[in-house]
Amino acid sequence: MTIQTLFQKLEQSYDEMVNIRRYLHQHPELSFQEVQTAKYIADFYKNLGIEVKENVGGNGVVARIKGKYPGKTVALRADFDALPIHEETDLPYKSKVPGVMHACGHDGHTATLLVLAKTLFEMKDELAGEYVMIHQHAEEFAPGGAISMIQDGCLEGVDVIFGTHLWSPVPCGTISYRTGPIMAAADRFEIKIQGYGGHGAQPHKTKDAIVIASQLVMNLQQIVSRRVDPIDSAVVTVASFVAENAFNVIADTAKLSGTVRTFNENVRDFIEEEIERIVKGTCLAAGCEIEYEYHRGYPAVVNHEVETDFLVSCAKNVADVENIVMAAPEMGGEDFAYYLQHVKGTFFFTGAEPDNVENPYPHHHPKFDINEKALLIAAKTLGTAALNYQTVE
Ligand code: MN
Repeated sequence: MTIQTLFQKLEQSYDEMVNIRRYLHQHPELSFQEVQTAKYIADFYKNLGIEVKENVGGNGVVARIKGKYPGKTVALRADFDALPIHEETDLPYKSKVPGVMHACGHDGHTATLLVLAKTLFEMKDELAGEYVMIHQHAEEFAPGGAISMIQDGCLEGVDVIFGTHLWSPVPCGTISYRTGPIMAAADRFEIKIQGYGGHGAQPHKTKDAIVIASQLVMNLQQIVSRRVDPIDSAVVTVASFVAENAFNVIADTAKLSGTVRTFNENVRDFIEEEIERIVKGTCLAAGCEIEYEYHRGYPAVVNHEVETDFLVSCAKNVADVENIVMAAPEMGGEDFAYYLQHVKGTFFFTGAEPDNVENPYPHHHPKFDINEKALLIAAKTLGTAALNYQTVE
């Protein structure tokens, strides 16, 4: 009964959800600079008379909605930062900020959570438990907003957390879930090879940084192909190789940078050690200096089994959900990972492929778009999970 009321109210608020999403889409802000977006979110709650905490661990905003009856505390999370991308769509509500764009759907996440919060607040007299709306800043840029929001108490008293990502590669109407790792740990490395430059005609008087760096690139390729157990997944990508000189100059320096993606902490540790060993070995063999830095980004998003099964059972009750499929693990990173290190929960994808599009533009593309109908599906699924969790033993 309560769930039916929730669905009705959400359906009635669909236009509002879309309007909020489009407003946010026009006014994107970069990670750690989302001051106006945070204010917009906080004002939404204040106008409804909902208790809201601002500046949680930075620009984060947390609202708590208490049901009339005692029960469990369920957290729902939506992120709200945008990307340094110049929007190239022809949408009437395209970004008004040059070079900044909601190209990952976080505008939709925020609209979904705000309207769901409003609905739960309207229903509070029939509800048990407490609902913690975590509006997280800075998901796109490590160290991310999740860590500081957790340190600032956003998970206090929380029994379980659910989060979703609108996902344009998956058809609208599909919920995609996974037990265990669903998104990868994302690390970054920087390497500077200090050779000894010189005349292009006198290689014997130099230490050619380009040749040394090239060997290093090829050696790094063997970590995944020859050192990591083939049953484990991992990526080592050298994404940048910079050593620009005139045509008759042997390079004095070369700089490499790249990313490492893993699902398992042991594999992550192993690859970090391997990179360091290969850097040192190459350095020794070439007789040059090499500076090396390894920066750990977000850990893998590892979903809890019982809560993932529970989420799937909830999604089955949502009529708009036509398909529920097991997700292949994504090599992208997400700082939702940190919440799951503190409390039980699950992170899932809500299919958001735009209508009448054969090949949707990928997330982080200047022409990226989502299917707005997915907002309602996300709200219903998250809302069902929040309410049904009260009956879990
Ligand atoms: Mn994202």
